[in-house]
Parts: sequence; structure tokens; C-alpha cells
Amino acid sequence: EKAGIDAGGTLCKVAMQTEKGWVYQSFPTKQMKECIRWLNTHCVHRHLCITGGKASIIRAKLKRQDLTLIPEFSASCAGARELLNNEGHTSLGDFILTNVGTGTSLNHVKGMKQEWMGGTGVGGGTLIGLSGLLTGVYDYSKLIQCAEHGKRDSIDLTVARIYEGETPPIPGDLTASNFGAASAESISPSPADQVASVIGLVAETVTSLSVLAAQKAEVKTVVYIGSSFVDNSLLQGIVTRYSRQWGLTPIIPEHGSFCGAIGAALS
Ligand code: ADP
Repeated sequence: EKAGIDAGGTLCKVAMQTEKGWVYQSFPTKQMKECIRWLNTHCVHRHLCITGGKASIIRAKLKRQDLTLIPEFSASCAGARELLNNEGHTSLGDFILTNVGTGTSLNHVKGMKQEWMGGTGVGGGTLIGLSGLLTGVYDYSKLIQCAEHGKRDSIDLTVARIYEGETPPIPGDLTASNFGAASAESISPSPADQVASVIGLVAETVTSLSVLAAQKAEVKTVVYIGSSFVDNSLLQGIVTRYSRQWGLTPIIPEHGSFCGAIGAALS
């Protein structure tokens, strides 16, 4: 029996296959000690397969011989296939896998192989860091709760507002400029509005890249994973709507943040 560990820049994710299905656990990467203690308690009899940028650090701290390091992209793509199968997307062809972690990476998943297509530094780390600089709050759950009632229209400039009643050449509800409506003259927006706009920026950046990647790879489906979607209905909603506007089918699997850990466990 195996356990998979995905040690990322922000969170350490663990996935274990049991008779009752997958069991998940995650820890802030900053609290590595707690994660090591948990693994030493719950995974003593399991072979551990580790992936992610902090995999070697975990390996050094675990002091065990039976550890396997797995490349990050093959782990997340294999894990995504498994999750999608379990969620009933059985006849899914090739797709773009957009992983919105601390940063964002895009892979073209072809059968059981994958090809890295690039990424952006705009991701979950931006959500926390930029929101933190604006509001002084750096706590993920507080931020996404706060954003729930935020309004973006005093901060973001839509295409329709630039065209002021004229017919624009592209849909008017698209964002022409993220943060482009903020000015010294306008009343200062609330923290909720600011965080909502940061989430809009992240959502639209990762979706725009995904749309271009899907066009290049000639696929119609984009699978969005990564912990940035956890309990984050605003990010989920904008990404879903914007992908559909481009004729793509977006899928945001439940437990998508554990793709890397699942893929590692299956390797
Ligand atoms: P990585 O593998 O790079 O650590 P993840 O897929 O785990 O990336 O996503 C990290 C992002 O998920 C964070 O930047 C943050 O936006 C979001 N997030 C979700 N839950 C938490 C949490 N409990 N603590 C911190 N960030 C979280």
C-alpha cells in the first residue's frame, strides 16, 4: 500500500488509498514538522511516493529508505485522470490541465502522457499576497469569505464602460482592464471589493491562458485543479463562466487539489 505526498510551495497534500476510497489530509508547508509527525503516525506501513517542489526536503526529514520521488507534472496528470474517472467523466479525451497552485501551470494531457505548455506567476499566491498587501489580511479562508460579497465594478473596467453605449467589437461584459477603474477620484473600495477584484484578476488570467492553450492543442475541455479553488466559489464561478464564453467545457473536480498526491500514490 502506498501514500502519495505533494509538497508544494504553500501546502503539503497527502492522499491514501483505503478500502473506503481516498483519504485526504493537508498541511501548510510552513508547518512541515506537523506533516512529518502525521506521516510518521499514519503512514508507517505504507510506501511513500513524493512529488512537488519540496519533495526532497520532506525526504530528508522523513529519514526512511522506502521513498520514491515522482516528477510533478506526470503525478498531477495521472491524478487528474483518476479523479475524473471517479467523478464519472469516463469518456474524456485529451484536455488542458490548469493547476492553480501558488503559481499556475498548464499541461496538455494526451492519453496518459502530458506536455507542459507554460504557465503564469499569477495564481493562488497572488490571491493571498496581493490581497494581503491591499487589506492587511493574509489568511486564505478569511480572504475568500470576505470576497463573497465584494463587487468588482468600482475597481475593474469592463469593455462596455469604455465603449459608453457604442457597440463594442467584443462582449461588453469582458474585463477590459483589471483594476483599471480604480482612481484617486473614486471613493475607496471596501476590502471585500478589493479581494473580489484580485480573485477576478487571477481567474481571468488563468482562464485566458487556458483558452489559448486549448486552441493551440485543439481540445475542448479544460480541467482546473489546485487548492486555489478550495471553498472559493468566486474563483470557480468566474473561471467556469469565462471558459464557457469561449465554447470550452470547464471541469473543476472536487478534491482537485489532491491530484499530485493521488498521482504519486498511484505511480
Ligand atoms: P502548491 O502546491 O504550490 O502549494 P496548492 O495547489 O496547494 O499549491 O495551492 C496553494 C494556494 O491555495 C494558496 O496560494 C491559496 O491561494 C490556496 N489555499 C487553499 N487553502 C489554503 C490554506 N488552508 N492555506 C493557505 N492557502 C490555501
